[in-house]
Amino acid sequence: MSEQLSNQQLLAAAQQFGTPLYVYHAEKITEQYQKLVNAFAKSDVKIFYACKALTNISILKHVKSLGSNVDCSSINEAKLALHAGFSPDRVLYTSNGIAFEEIEEAQSLGIHINIDSLSNLEKFGKKFGHSYPVGIRLRPNILAGGNFKISTGHDKSKFGIPVDQLDKVITLVNEYNIHIQGLHIHTGSEIKDVDVFVQGIEVLFDIIPHFNELKFIDLGGGFKVPYKHGDAETDIPLLAQKVKEAFEAHPVARNLQIWFEPGKFLVSDCGYLIAQVNVLKETSATTFAGINTGFNHLIRPMFYDAYHRIQNLSNPDGQEKKYSIVGNICETDTFAWDRKLHEIREGDYLVFYNAGAYGFEMSSNFNSRFKPAEVLIKESNMHLIRKRDTFEDLLKNQVEIA
Ligand SMILES: *Cc1c(COP(=O)(O)O)cnc(C)c1O
Repeated sequence: MSEQLSNQQLLAAAQQFGTPLYVYHAEKITEQYQKLVNAFAKSDVKIFYACKALTNISILKHVKSLGSNVDCSSINEAKLALHAGFSPDRVLYTSNGIAFEEIEEAQSLGIHINIDSLSNLEKFGKKFGHSYPVGIRLRPNILAGGNFKISTGHDKSKFGIPVDQLDKVITLVNEYNIHIQGLHIHTGSEIKDVDVFVQGIEVLFDIIPHFNELKFIDLGGGFKVPYKHGDAETDIPLLAQKVKEAFEAHPVARNLQIWFEPGKFLVSDCGYLIAQVNVLKETSATTFAGINTGFNHLIRPMFYDAYHRIQNLSNPDGQEKKYSIVGNICETDTFAWDRKLHEIREGDYLVFYNAGAYGFEMSSNFNSRFKPAEVLIKESNMHLIRKRDTFEDLLKNQVEIA
C-alpha cells in the first residue's frame, strides 16, 4: 500500500498552523527507504540520504531511525547531520568546488569525504598522506538527467574530476600515498533510465585496477520519481538486479560495498505545500488564482520548469475549470498555466504535491516574506518542526547604521 496523507489531515494541519505550510509524512519516507532496502537486499548496499533535498533536523532524525546514512553537500549539512545524532562514520561529505579549509574541517569531524578536484586532492595528499581514507568524485562524461540544469555528469559539467584526467589522479595518489577508499559518480537528477547507472558502473569498473585499497563504489543519487500521473519512475528492482549482476561479474567489485545517495527519491513524495487563494482575477487570457505563496517558497516550477500536481482541498467535488495558479512575488511567478482544477473560491486551500524535495530547502525571504512553517505527521500525530518566520527574523542579522 502506498502511504498518503488524506485531505482531512492536510486541512487540519493548515487550519491549525496557518498557510503557507509545508507538511511532511514520516511513513512515506519510511516506505521509500524500505523500497530501496528490499530491492538491494541481496547486495552489499549502503544508502546515504542526500540531505540537501530537505535538512530539517526532525526529518534527519527520522531518516536516521530507519538505519540510513547521510550524504552532505556542505560542511553545515554535515554538522546538522551530526547534530541529529548520526555518528561520523554514517556521514558522507561529497564536496564540489569547496575551499580546502572545509575539507580539513570535515577531516577533523571524522566523516567520509569525496574529493572532487585535483587541486584539493593534492592539498589533501600533502597534508594527510595515507592517514585518512577518502573517495574521489569522478565525472563520467555521461549526459543524463531530467534537464540540463540538473545534469552533473556530462563533459561540460563542473562536477567531479573528469575521467580523462585519471592519469593525473594516479600521479597524485602515488606521490603522496593517498588512501583512496572509494570511487564516486553522481550523474544527475531524475534519471529514469537504469542503463545510465550501468554505464556509470562500467566507467568506474575500468578504473578500479588503478587503486588497491578500495572499499566502496558510490553511484550517487538521481532516482526519478513521478510528478504527474503517468510519469516514468526509476525502476528500482530492475536497477538492483542490474547492479547486482554487474558487481558479481567483476573480480574486484564483487567484494566492494555499493553506495547510493538518493535525495528526491526519499523525500519528494512525502511533502505537501499548502497555500490559500488570495484573489481570483478573470482576464481575457485566463482566470488567475493568486495564492499566498510564491517561488520564494517553491522555486521548482520557475527554476526548472517543474510540474507539480495541485488540488483544491476545499472543494474537491467542485466543477472543473481552468486556472492559472500564480504566486504573490513581484516577478513572473507562475506555478501552473491553464490547469484544470475543481472550482476555486477565494480563501480555498490548494495543495502542491511532491513538495518534500528541494521545496522548503530552496526557499528564501525574497520580497521580505516569511519562510513557511513545517509540520511532520508521524503515526497520525502532527508535530510542528519549524516555526514560521517572524518580523524579527527579517531584521535579526542586519546591522543598522545611523
Ligand atoms: C544532489 C545530490 C544527490 C541527490 O540527488 P537526487 O536527484 O535528489 O537524488 C546525490 N549526490 C550528490 C553528490 C548530490 O549533489
